[in-house]
Amino acid sequence: MYYSTMYDERIQGFHYASEPDRLQQVSEDRVRFTGRHSIHTLTHTDEHWQCDCASYQRRDAAHCEPLFCAHVIAVERLLHN
Ligand SMILES: [Zn+2]
Repeated sequence: MYYSTMYDERIQGFHYASEPDRLQQVSEDRVRFTGRHSIHTLTHTDEHWQCDCASYQRRDAAHCEPLFCAHVIAVERLLHN
């Protein structure tokens, strides 16, 4: 179900945010994030973080608002607190 997936991803994002070792800053507007299954690259564009993971790309293609994934939630919490 879409809504439970969205909810789970928020939970996962908050969980990731408690594990800062997963985050590696590559440059001012680019970070690498080690998720449970693979490593993702996030890019900061137009005041927002974009992620290369399947979940984020699927939402982007469907024009979902808000546009996010577990990695974006974690990076925002870790870098903008
Ligand atoms: Zn992601």
